[in-house]
Amino acid sequence: MSTPAAAGILYVVATPIGNLGDLSPRALDTLRAVAAICAEDTRHTRQLLSHYGVDQTLIALHEHNEAGLADRIVARLCAGESLALVSDAGTPLVSDPGFRLVAAARAAGVKVSPIPGPSALIAALSVAGLPSDRFAFEGFLPAKAGARRERFAELASEPRTLLFYESSHRIEDALADAVAVIGADRPAAIARELTKLFETVLSGTLGELHARVAADADQRKGEFVLLIQGVGDDADAKLVEGRRIYAKLIEHLPPSTAAKLAAEITGAPRKALYGGA
Ligand code: SAM
Repeated sequence: MSTPAAAGILYVVATPIGNLGDLSPRALDTLRAVAAICAEDTRHTRQLLSHYGVDQTLIALHEHNEAGLADRIVARLCAGESLALVSDAGTPLVSDPGFRLVAAARAAGVKVSPIPGPSALIAALSVAGLPSDRFAFEGFLPAKAGARRERFAELASEPRTLLFYESSHRIEDALADAVAVIGADRPAAIARELTKLFETVLSGTLGELHARVAADADQRKGEFVLLIQGVGDDADAKLVEGRRIYAKLIEHLPPSTAAKLAAEITGAPRKALYGGA
């Protein structure tokens, strides 16, 4: 679709994930210059703007009203106003609202322009020391244990480094489930409170990280990115898949038969499956 003649621009602006000094000069200029800012939580954004002495009109745009509001915001853009979109922290649309507005603006032919900056997932990837040439961002894990284990099972043979967002009250359980489903030996990292006072990046196997977090309440405080290295070589991948199939078959078959079949299907060594996993 062609751009409406005098349309404004929708700027998608990344904001700090902790340290307010991480707002880029271009982000600041943009937030000053636009007609209004669409913000996930206007009180939160007001604090950021006050820190920089910016007085701006804010429009509350969050997951509960985005679908209804998107068309009205697009109408303002089409009428010539330039607007900014921010979320509470980091890059909008990354586990944050904004997708519907951006899609609607683009569908209407409005230019959508990024003002790139912080995002917890990229910050975590950049310091975790895990393979970063290919990675898969999985957003938040399911809150319930059963669904979370199912998700880990689906991802256990993924060769790319996996990244998840996690909250303080679930990080210990998430690590316990990762140990149970993916295995205690898989290399992993936890990036906590990045750019903030208590920034901590822990590396180790899933088993080691779980033990560390379980033993130290301080390591369960704040905001987290959990990173899990992908399966390495072919033998690792076969073993992970073999364990997954074995866990399913054992619900219906004797262990020795389940292990024999899982080994035949996946090529994993039968002994490593039988009674193991
Ligand atoms: N849009 C944001 C971004 O670009 O990173 C993410 C928003 S999401 C609602 C919030 C989650 O991001 C937190 O629960 C946590 O998992 C992660 N996160 C945000 N800030 C973080 C920080 N400073 N350190 C570690 N993780 C962080």
